Amino acid sequence: MKQAIALRGDLLDFTAAPSWGDTRSAAVRWRPDHWLLLRDGRIEGALPGQQAPAPGYAREDHRGRLILPGFVDTHVHSPQLDVIGSFGTALLDWLETYTFPAERAWADPEVAAAGSARFLDALLAHGTTAAAVFPTVHKTSVDALFGAAHARGMRLLAGKCLMDRNAPEGLRDTVAEAERDCTDLIERWHGRGRNAYAVTVRFAPTSTPAQLALAGALCAADPTLYMQTHVAESEAEVRWVAELFPTARSYLGVYARAGLLHPRAILAHGIWLDDADRAALRDTGAQIAHCPSSNLFLGSGLFDWHAGRHAGVAVSLATDVGGGTSLCQLRTLADAYKVQALRGERLTAWVALHAATRGPAEALQLGHEIGSLEAGAAADLCVWDRAAGAVGAHRLALARDLHEELFAWLTLADERCLESAWVAGVPRFRRSP
Ligand SMILES: [Zn+2]
Repeated sequence: MKQAIALRGDLLDFTAAPSWGDTRSAAVRWRPDHWLLLRDGRIEGALPGQQAPAPGYAREDHRGRLILPGFVDTHVHSPQLDVIGSFGTALLDWLETYTFPAERAWADPEVAAAGSARFLDALLAHGTTAAAVFPTVHKTSVDALFGAAHARGMRLLAGKCLMDRNAPEGLRDTVAEAERDCTDLIERWHGRGRNAYAVTVRFAPTSTPAQLALAGALCAADPTLYMQTHVAESEAEVRWVAELFPTARSYLGVYARAGLLHPRAILAHGIWLDDADRAALRDTGAQIAHCPSSNLFLGSGLFDWHAGRHAGVAVSLATDVGGGTSLCQLRTLADAYKVQALRGERLTAWVALHAATRGPAEALQLGHEIGSLEAGAAADLCVWDRAAGAVGAHRLALARDLHEELFAWLTLADERCLESAWVAGVPRFRRSP
């Protein structure tokens, strides 16, 4: 669509990674009262508010509101809106009791199509414009998700879950089926529009060594493919992996041995890692998707973000719905702060916001396209209300500097503050008046 649009508001994004603990980071690009200029689905540039954009721009005045890059969610499950907020279990029995039964239904193309549309519209309504998503083991679930993302113009990474053991009937594949389905899906969807295929290993316990080898071979054959999985989420899970793979050095070592750690690999959680694991992540360029609301909800543990950062590991922020309790990255950021507080660390608004925007974009090698308001990037952005109710308005009015204001905002705000979400210059969500 050939179109020029100018949005007026307070622009906030990052030009680099902010340092840990630095509340006055020079990496923050703050442009209060500016016009953000969009053309043909891309960001064209910005102008100070007093300078009127040239005639020909459709104008929207959002003065007093924040304009941020759309959030990137690096780990979330499309079928799990059905089980979000389920009571009373930890990871392994949560999978058994709630998740696996819900995922079985996605073999049905109608269920998968309706569920994928609901899921992506929900992401947009929470301010997330790009995501790395786990559908189910069924090919239908991947076709439906990629099709729905393509229709919305969204940047999406996904792939069929590989699971050939330790899963119930109706949720298992075989190595041969997996190879055939992955080859088909890669051909159909990888690089089509803004879709990219991710070789998706559910987690080590649900794949045989032969299937892990297949996953590694797929990655080796095409280095433009992504890889996503879970690692070291709960202690019980880590013990189980040690029993299943007695010769592996560690849980992460299972993936390393299969050739699954590379610059396009995303591993969710990574709570129970050691220094050697962190060094392996750094050396291979694989990133950790930190999922604080899920870790708190399932009681999995407190992620050591600072150790990861110290070791040079890329860490991004993810919701992990349905173990996570909200698709909203603002709520997730607030939970991340609390997890770090329990570890004796203090997460700045800047490190947190960067980990949901430019950080993951760069770690996914998509920094030119998403995660910032840079000229040339896709116009994937959100317009946010500053105040969250009477308490938020009161508190924000008292803020003495930008970090104080933004930190209070991300602690108090949620998806109800989202006014509009734009994908490639098209408003895909607008709050009803
Ligand atoms: Zn997950």
